[in-house]
Amino acid sequence: GLRDCVPHLDVGDAFEVIGAPSLSNEFDDEGDGKESDIPEAVAARKDLVDILSGHAMLMSKEGKEPAFAPWSLRYSGHQFGSWAGQLGDGRAISVLVTPHSSDPSLIYELQLKGAGRTPFSRSADGLAVLRSSIREYLCSEAMQALSIPTTRSLSLISLPALPVARERVETACVLTRMAPSFIRIGSFEALNGPTNMFFFGGGQQKPDWEALRVLGEWVSGQVLKLGLGKGEAWGTKLVLETTRRNAEMVAGWQAYGFMHGVINTDNVSILGLTIDYGPYAFMDVFDPLHICNHTDEGGRYAYKFQPNMIIYALRALLDALAPLIGAEAELGKAVSKGWAENASAEKLEEWKQKGLEIRDELDRVAQQTMATEYGRLMRKRLGLRKQDPKDESILSKPLLDLLETHRLDFHSTFRTLASFKPSLLSTAEPLSPGLHEFITRLLAATPYQESMDHGKATEAWLEWLQAYAKRIEDPSEKELWAGVEYVDQAREKEVKAANPRFVLRQWVLEEVIKKVERDSDSGKKVLAKVMQMACNPFEPWGAEDDEAITAEEKEERRYCGL
Ligand code: AMP
Ligand code: MG
Ligand code: MG
Repeated sequence: GLRDCVPHLDVGDAFEVIGAPSLSNEFDDEGDGKESDIPEAVAARKDLVDILSGHAMLMSKEGKEPAFAPWSLRYSGHQFGSWAGQLGDGRAISVLVTPHSSDPSLIYELQLKGAGRTPFSRSADGLAVLRSSIREYLCSEAMQALSIPTTRSLSLISLPALPVARERVETACVLTRMAPSFIRIGSFEALNGPTNMFFFGGGQQKPDWEALRVLGEWVSGQVLKLGLGKGEAWGTKLVLETTRRNAEMVAGWQAYGFMHGVINTDNVSILGLTIDYGPYAFMDVFDPLHICNHTDEGGRYAYKFQPNMIIYALRALLDALAPLIGAEAELGKAVSKGWAENASAEKLEEWKQKGLEIRDELDRVAQQTMATEYGRLMRKRLGLRKQDPKDESILSKPLLDLLETHRLDFHSTFRTLASFKPSLLSTAEPLSPGLHEFITRLLAATPYQESMDHGKATEAWLEWLQAYAKRIEDPSEKELWAGVEYVDQAREKEVKAANPRFVLRQWVLEEVIKKVERDSDSGKKVLAKVMQMACNPFEPWGAEDDEAITAEEKEERRYCGL
């Protein structure tokens, strides 16, 4: 089937590089570090655009034979809680695996999304459109800048000569994304998923025990790098490491108000990377039940449920590996070739039940990791240095409740809190002019000004700010700032470095997409600008001084919602 995987988009020379900051070194002067992300083996190729637009294969130096055989990997999955059988990857083709230029131990796989049909495309075209490609292109880099584990984007190339029929006719686009691996939970489920159903005329899916072993061994050693001894059991370790990584990732989502929208098991990475940017959104006005995916009628993937939905997916990984984990437990070491060949159905069932015994541990690792990482990030957003498990109930939760009740913007609020000083509260007056001004700024962060009860909201803020001030002034916190000369300023700096001024909101994405669709030359400039802002979200975009503001700074401010 490899031949079918060779990119072969027949569109002549009609393609256009819409975005590739890493490749053009466009942002070198800004020092945003993106240039170092180009794998050397790729940057050195003159034929790069041909490869990344799906026109050509990477050839050997002599140009005689392909240097790499492109491949696609099928996967299955549970979608919205139901087993959906084999469903992917009908539109992603990997073309190269190469070490990172500055860290050779870091391996990157380059994958073209939307470069045409693969053996797993079924009746679909294997193509992607400009709109969804721009969304993934920008957001994966925005997530990276927020330090949330993610797949990366390398380039975006449109194919104007290749119209794609969707609800309307759209432009085809090839996105090149990078990750150490694109293996998902669904990759394991493809080898041992629920067997009691029929799909797409494909008949009953039989487990492939041997492939499960080979994939798992490879993922443990080469992808997760578990550092196992020879013959050491790996099943449990693989599941728990993937659990830990995904728990850390989802803590980042919660702390930064990222909603994925489709946490199906095929969209959950073994490496704990945010993968498959579809109907995602960043939170605006804080609403824990917000649903960003309009096909998700029940709100299964609403913000609030994301942690539970990750655990659901991780349990599906355990289900797929459970018989092997049970067999390893019995043996006390890794299973070897042919491990399940002669096992009876009863034996397999016994192993499976044994393997499932680690489920409680999976849940515990997930919950604990999420709580610890979420706590760490929220403290960072609030500029607190001391670890205190009480912060969640005393500070974070009440703050989010307050935002929800008074319908305030999640990100603007945190950014405004950067300039809070406990001294604002230490005057005799209950509401000094300084404090009044500060609370007025906090209350401004909502499009629902008219329906807001300003009296109640002010009261609620006063109460919360008192708790915040008390926490800042606590001796055990102050101790950690000893020797810092201007603590308020130092905290403001730290808080600003943890709270983005620029957030890749829905309306920004919509605007960029529209501009690129309308005119690719001017659209490309807007795309590059927004990419630059997404890569540097904590910068003070837009001039501070209203008088001297340039047109570009005005635009920057607008994109920051200011
Ligand atoms: P997604 O909904 O983007 O996570 O896609 C899930 C799977 O649906 C992919 O892995 C593909 O196999 C398949 N798919 C989605 N769109 C297409 C397309 N235009 N052509 C071929 N396969 C597709
Ligand atoms: Mg997917
Ligand atoms: Mg998708």
